[in-house]
Amino acid sequence: MSDCGICDIAESDKLKLFEDENLIIALAPRPAAPGHLMVFPKKHVTILEQVPDYIASWMLQLANKASMALFEGMNAEGTNILLQNGTAAGQSKPHCTLHIIPRRQGDAINTNWQPKQLDEEEMSTVELKLKEEAKNIGAFEEEPQKPIELEDKAAKIRGDEENYLIKQIERIP
Ligand SMILES: [Zn+2]
Repeated sequence: MSDCGICDIAESDKLKLFEDENLIIALAPRPAAPGHLMVFPKKHVTILEQVPDYIASWMLQLANKASMALFEGMNAEGTNILLQNGTAAGQSKPHCTLHIIPRRQGDAINTNWQPKQLDEEEMSTVELKLKEEAKNIGAFEEEPQKPIELEDKAAKIRGDEENYLIKQIERIP
């Protein structure tokens, strides 16, 4: 057992539905609703900022697949895809986790907030601050090289070799 409940799930065989090199999809041990899923990095990282861009984007792709599984397998009528980034945002475990919560009309799960009305000055102050910060958005980390599909490549090489041999044989009078 580690100090992190999410790492414990990563290391055990329980609750896990899918895993690849970097990410895991698992059932939430204390779900907001039956079928509540979690997508998280295998490596212990606290917040999203510590997750490399290519893994972060894969997290969202897996969350989308997990969400589709909830529509299909749990007859969900909707899903919330939610990341609590920091304790102030309601994060209870120190491990970056994307939650996929199946929803139904009238299920009374509370993820809503009361919209605030900012006055014009407040809004333009916020806009100014964030416009400056937003200048760096779009400077993504370089993608790592795509994994080479060894089996397919091997089959292709074999195929090429066979073709080559056949051509050679055909040339033999
Ligand atoms: Zn952890």
